[in-house]
Parts: sequence; structure tokens; C-alpha cells
Amino acid sequence: MRGWWLVVLVVAAVALGYAVMPNIWTRVFKRTALRRVPAAGRRVALTFDDGPDPKYTPRLLDVLAQCGVRATFFVIAEKAMRHAEIVERMIREGHEVAVHGMRHVLVPVLPPRSAWEQVFTAAEKLRERFGLSIRWYRPTWGLCNLPALWWTRGGRRGLRMVTWSIMVGDWRRTAPGVLRSRILRRLHPGAILVLHDSDETWGSEAGAPERVIELMPELTEALAARGYRLGPLRDLLAAGVAAQPGTGDSSGAASVPLRPQ
Ligand SMILES: [Zn+2]
Repeated sequence: MRGWWLVVLVVAAVALGYAVMPNIWTRVFKRTALRRVPAAGRRVALTFDDGPDPKYTPRLLDVLAQCGVRATFFVIAEKAMRHAEIVERMIREGHEVAVHGMRHVLVPVLPPRSAWEQVFTAAEKLRERFGLSIRWYRPTWGLCNLPALWWTRGGRRGLRMVTWSIMVGDWRRTAPGVLRSRILRRLHPGAILVLHDSDETWGSEAGAPERVIELMPELTEALAARGYRLGPLRDLLAAGVAAQPGTGDSSGAASVPLRPQ
């Protein structure tokens, strides 16, 4: 019987190190993954996950154009291949494209080979199809495993892991005014704001991105009134030196640790 307990303990320890600890490292200790760029001053990175979605993304692009705002889109590579015309429009209109995975799956439970596909094969597909330089990877639901964290630490293989410093629960249908005040409450220099332009992800409420689209004009205005400017993540990096892993995270910048990312 004692032998079995030993096996169970070893398996539990390996699972903890492989699937759980990397997320405690990035989410609780806020290490390694880029989650804000304090040196960028009064700028906020506007980022969208889970698209492109033909139902919402084109209308979001319309409203961003009206507001004169550019963003970073963390796309699902398979969806990007299916809706290539939307990605091409993003690029044409000056938005930044980054990778959110090949499919929206739970990375911590993936073996290394599948994790590699989620990160690097997905980025390679986007590079090949759209001739892009992909610099950022944001894991689905913000959850990684040990290989994914190791491969992207410090952008060593050309991709750096990015999470966020402001998350406001926009995957639930929420009044734009409520989303706006949640964002303003958590506002800080060099923030990385995550929103969603698709409701296909598990845990999302149908129609939630409608409210995100409605939010854009009033958010742009509210941030401008406070001297803040929205832009793609690349602009924050260009504006300041990126915070080194483990530094600059002492502001207590809050996020809502609920569900989807
Ligand atoms: Zn996502």
C-alpha cells in the first residue's frame, strides 16, 4: 500500500510543478509574463482576445477607426485562417496582431508537443499567412504550463508571454458604463487592458462583445479626459523600457480573477 501512496505523491508533485506552479508564478507572484509597462507613462495597451469573430470584430474595427484608436488583437490562429479577411483588415488599419493559441484550449493540461503547437506553430501560421512579425503570446484563459512559460521567458524564442493588469469581466453582458467605471478604478500608467471580441469561448455570455463595442467611444473619451491614450502594446514598449520581470508590479493594479480570458 505504501508503494501506491508514493506513486500518488510523485504524480501529484509532477502535476503541481507542470500545471499549477507556473500559473502561481505568473498570476500570484506576477513574474516573467509581461503584465504592464510602467515606463510608458499615461498610456494603456488596448488588447482584445478570442477573435477574429465575423459577428463582432468588423464592427469593433469600425468603431476603433471612428475613435482613432489602434489595438493589439490576440487571435486564435485557426479562426484567423477561417476569417483571414478580418485579420488583413486589422493589419491594413494599423492594428497589431498577436497570438492567443491555435485553438482555445486549456494549456496547463497539454503535453509539451501540444503546448508548442499552441504557442509557436500558431505564431508561425500567422507569420506565414499574413507576413507578420508576431511578438506576443497570451495563453488562453491566461493559464500556461511549465514548457510554455520556459520557452517564452524574456522573449527568448521571439515570443514573449503577456497577461494583463486590468480585466473587468466583459465576457458577461455588462453595461458599458459599468465596464468603464471598473476600468477607470483600476487605471494606472502603462496598464495592459484585456477585453474580448468573441463570445464563442467557454464561459462567455452570448452577446457580451456588443457591450464592448458600445464601450469604446466613451472609454476613449474618459481616458483622454484623464490624459491617457489607448494604443497597441507595441506603442507602450516603444514609449518606455519594458518593466523587467518581477519589477514595477507593486502598484496593486487589480484584476478580477474570475473567468475567461
Ligand atoms: Zn481567450
